Amino acid sequence: MADAPKDAPEPGRTLIRNIGRLLTGDLAAPLAGSDCLLIEDGVIAGFEAAEADRTIDAAGCAVAPGLIDGHCHPVFGDWTPRQNQIGWIEMNVNGGVTSFLSAGEVHLPGRPKDAEGVKALAMVAQRCFANFRAAGAKVLAGAPVPELDFDRDFYAAVKAAGIRHIGEIGLGTVAKGPDAARVTGWCRELGIETIMHTGGPSIAGSHHVTAEDVLEAQPDVVSHINGGPTSIPHGAIRELCRHATGALEAVHNGNEKSAVVALEGALAESRLADLLIGTDAPAGSGVQPNGMLRMATLLASFGGLPAEQAWCCGSGNVAKRRGLTQGIVAPGRPADLVFMDRPGGSAGDDVLGAMAMGNIPGIAAVMIDGKMRTGRSRSTPPSARVPVL
Ligand SMILES: [Zn+2]
Repeated sequence: MADAPKDAPEPGRTLIRNIGRLLTGDLAAPLAGSDCLLIEDGVIAGFEAAEADRTIDAAGCAVAPGLIDGHCHPVFGDWTPRQNQIGWIEMNVNGGVTSFLSAGEVHLPGRPKDAEGVKALAMVAQRCFANFRAAGAKVLAGAPVPELDFDRDFYAAVKAAGIRHIGEIGLGTVAKGPDAARVTGWCRELGIETIMHTGGPSIAGSHHVTAEDVLEAQPDVVSHINGGPTSIPHGAIRELCRHATGALEAVHNGNEKSAVVALEGALAESRLADLLIGTDAPAGSGVQPNGMLRMATLLASFGGLPAEQAWCCGSGNVAKRRGLTQGIVAPGRPADLVFMDRPGGSAGDDVLGAMAMGNIPGIAAVMIDGKMRTGRSRSTPPSARVPVL
């Protein structure tokens, strides 16, 4: 399917006013003082009110950068063969997610394992999702899963084909420290991002990866440090927080207790900027369209992290560590935004207070490239307030 016109950024100027809380996604300053946001041709232009072609009254809702699911497993279109489920991407957009990073298209039935087939699959997945955007979602797919018989030339070839990151080391035959270190070494030379499964096997055919394996390979992202879904021991998580050089990622399809241990470990090492959240969906445990919201709320409630900082773990932190322009509310960045409020019936003065007590936000609307893609969410409880267009 070629790019449809509906995926083009919203042309002209849009002024959002009457914003209750403005979350930036940037850990350095996670709340902005302004109650206005100006957008021009789908890009954030500034925090001041100005003449505009259209005005959105946020009605006191919070506005935040759209969440980036840094760990998911798409295949083709808005369908996952793992659960034989359609519409999971669109439902995740309803859950506040505007961008998705593939950790490998591993759920394709009968997926190839030979070098030519793996490269071809990654290229097709990447090209398809560049052209197909369910509910406007940005899916960065095309993540080849390393196998033992792939040499440096394989990675050079995928790089030349436009592939930006590999799939999880450990989902194929490369899983042990020395083999993984060879792959991360080649990829570092070639400028390809590396991610590595951590913990017990996810499904039959994948491997057990220990903290020692991860430390030997030093991937760019320690994928699901809290298990996907089976966690390494808590002491090993703290060890990775101390010595792993890559980003520390916690996922919804993981061990919740271990996610809190990872947060504590990251804080103890002054590495909150390295803590990323994702879902690892679709997976054996299914697809939870509110998975990213549930992870941010877990950090804000059980973890005790201020909710605006927890939001950074699923937006600006991912953007910075994975080299994306979206995920931060600042001039020049894409206007991928979530309007949200405390859900009806929740305690807490606003959405941040609701999250601190463990209630997920009510998503009131989702904007991608300046264009409204959803009304009131189909997957979250109703927000107390909704923006007026
Ligand atoms: Zn994994």
